[in-house]
Parts: sequence; C-alpha cells; structure tokens
Amino acid sequence: MEFNSTNQIRESVANICKKYGDKYWRSLDKDQKYPSEFVKEMTDSGFLNVLIPEEFGGSGLGLVEACAVLEEISLNGAHAGACHAQMYVMGSVLRHGTEAQKAEFLPKICTGKLRLQSFAVTEPNSGTDTTSIKTFAEKTNSGWRVNGQKVWISRVEHSDLMLLLARTKPIEKVKKKTDGISVFLINIHNAKNKGLTVSPIDSMINHHSCELFFDNMLLPKESLVGKEHDGFKVIMDGMNAERILIASECVGDGRYFVKKATDYANSRRVFGRSIGQNQGVQFPIAECHAKIESAALMVKKAASLFDSKEKCGPEANMAKMLAADASWDAGTVAMETFGGFGFSKEFDIERKFRETRLYQTAPISRNSILSFLILARSDKV
Ligand SMILES: Cc1cc2nc3c(=O)[nH]c(=O)nc-3n(C[C@H](O)[C@H](O)[C@H](O)COP(=O)(O)OP(=O)(O)OC[C@H]3O[C@@H](n4cnc5c(N)ncnc54)[C@H](O)[C@@H]3O)c2cc1C
Repeated sequence: MEFNSTNQIRESVANICKKYGDKYWRSLDKDQKYPSEFVKEMTDSGFLNVLIPEEFGGSGLGLVEACAVLEEISLNGAHAGACHAQMYVMGSVLRHGTEAQKAEFLPKICTGKLRLQSFAVTEPNSGTDTTSIKTFAEKTNSGWRVNGQKVWISRVEHSDLMLLLARTKPIEKVKKKTDGISVFLINIHNAKNKGLTVSPIDSMINHHSCELFFDNMLLPKESLVGKEHDGFKVIMDGMNAERILIASECVGDGRYFVKKATDYANSRRVFGRSIGQNQGVQFPIAECHAKIESAALMVKKAASLFDSKEKCGPEANMAKMLAADASWDAGTVAMETFGGFGFSKEFDIERKFRETRLYQTAPISRNSILSFLILARSDKV
C-alpha cells in the first residue's frame, strides 16, 4: 500500500472545497437546494471523472484515488452525497455498455455535458430484497415499455441520465430469482414526456431523493445496458465500488467530527477550564479517532483489491460497515462535545450528523452487510 500517493489530489480538492465554505452548505441544506456550482467545478477540474479511462476523456485513475476525492470533500465539511454517484454509476456503462454507448456517453459525462447521477433500484414494496422488484420492462418492436414505481431515487432532478433496474421476465418464470432482470440507461428529459413522473420526497437530509412512477414509459432498444435478463450481474459489479466510495466519505466525515470536537473541546471553557481537560470529554474523541483510522485501513485495503481486479466483496462490505459505524459514533460524540451548541445550525455538527446517519441504512444496511459476511464466510456467495 502506498500511503502518500493521493496527497496531491487531496490538496487540490481541499482548495476547491475551501471556496465553498460552511455557509454555502448550510444555506443549501436550509433551502433543500442542489450544489450545482460545486458539482460543476469538481467536474470541470476532473475530480468526478477519475474512474473514466483516458480514451474517453477521464483521468483513468483507480478507486484509491477516487476515494481520496470523496474523503477530502467530506473532511472539509461539504456534502459528497451530492456528487458521489457521478463516480460510480457510470461503471455499469463502462464495464457492460456497448462500444456505441461508451463512445456516446462517457466523454459527455467527463466534460459535464451530461450528468449520470441517478441509479433507480429501490421500490416501495421490495426494499432490501432487490430481486423482488416489480417494475417491469416489456419488450416491444422498437424497444421497451416500462410500468412500475421506484422510491428514494436520488438526484433525478439534477441528472440527465439514470440507470434503471427492471424485471424483464416475471419472477415466477425464472430459475434463479437473480435472472430475468435488466438494466437500462435512460435519458430522464425524454422519459419525462413518455410516461415518467418524478415526485420529490421531503426528507431528513438534503439528498434530493424522489419517487418515480413509470406509466407505459417507452424506451428505445439502445437503452439496454449489458445482456437482456442478466442485469443483476451488471449492478452487482458496480456495488463493491459504490460501497468502498461511500466508506471513504464516512472516513472523511469521521475525521471532520474528530477535528471539530477536538477544537471545540480545547476552546470551550466551563468551570474555569477547557472542557477538553476532562478525560470524560477526551476519551470518547480519542476512541472515535482510533475507530476511524482502523476503518480507513479497511477502506484502503478494499480499494486496493478492487484496483488490482481481485475479489473484494467482503472487504468492500466490511469497509462500508466499519466506516459508517465509525462516522456515526464520531457524529454522536461531536454532538455530545458541543453540548447544546451541537443543536445549533450555526455550528454545522447537526447537519453533518444527519448526513452521516444515512450510511447506516443506504445504500446497504448493517444487517444486510452482516448477512452477506456470514454467507461469504460459508462460501455461499
Ligand atoms: C436518503 C436516501 C437516498 C437513497 N438513494 C437511493 C438511490 O439513489 N437509489 C436507490 O435505488 N435507492 C436509494 N435509497 C434506498 C436505500 O438503498 C434503501 O432505503 C435501503 O436499501 C433499505 O431499503 P428499505 O428502506 O426498503 O428498507 P427495508 O428493506 O424495508 O428494511 C428496513 C429495515 O429492516 C432491516 N431488514 C430487512 N430485512 C432484513 C433481514 N432479512 N434481516 C435483518 N434485517 C432486515 C433492514 O436492515 C432495515 O434496517 C435511498 C435511501 C435514502 C433514505
């Protein structure tokens, strides 16, 4: 493992983040607005395209470098959730798309002409059990007709393209429940005139998540990504990258909380001395620091395995769980350290606390990770 290879990336990302200070993120959070300027600058500077090969206009770097970008965004108090999908959703097109799809979309994603920020999997009645999705794409002479519903699909209103997971064979007619599912790349603007309705969800964090309704939505046949009925593999392939990248955000969040809590503990004076002189305040922060740094090692291991094209399912899942737990613990300790002021929007702790809570649940919950690890240990996955 090379521990200093990403320093230059981190420094440049931190410099961009410094231009968009706490006030910027606070006001977006208050008004539930999207950080368009920040996402544009990150795209124009090439940081959201690090995983796209050079032949398509990206920097052709690995997941280790991509993790450094997201970690640094979170560490600087910004909200990486606004742009993280721009890094990993395109992986399905890159690895499974046709040459024509890659040539058409990847260069435009690199330049920011097109945003591919949305990935529609979750449904109200299937939840964690992805293979029980009901959204159905029926084959027609010219393409596909889609009916169904999705929920919690993030950034649809700020994206041009979206990946959609739909059944193309009824579950009763397949041998394995992972069969008969396909992936489609959708132009959201065109789809809105052809049967797609988007309805924003009022939620705890500024994540721009929506409910989607497909009412005889028509898709051209070129929308299919990968083989028909074999889409489960297409998405599974990208999920390790997604988990590792989100874990790196959590590491950034965790380090942010530790730094904020430490600075506050040193400056806040109660009973005639800084609260940080009390071991009751110091120890929880030190413990969080230890947990975050050990989770960071697992993230690094998982990303390195991914970049070497080795199997990394258990490591990706462990990295996600350990880092999400560490950032959530650190958020709780930061809230405690700030006392009443932790609740004040002005200090940004409560905003980051809400934001990092998401990663206990999405994109995969702790329970699902633990189940996966048990199966992986018994060689059943
Ligand atoms: C802000 C936000 C943004 C999101 N963005 C996206 C997005 O862009 N695209 C997308 O497709 N989805 C998105 N999601 C959806 C997210 O991935 C799901 O919410 C998550 O996968 C859990 O599904 P569910 O909410 O239906 O929970 P459920 O499946 O109903 O589970 C509820 C609880 O029960 C537990 N549980 C379920 N089954 C078991 C079991 N067998 N054993 C033990 N525990 C179990 C789960 O761990 C969970 O804690 C987003 C969600 C949120 C909140």
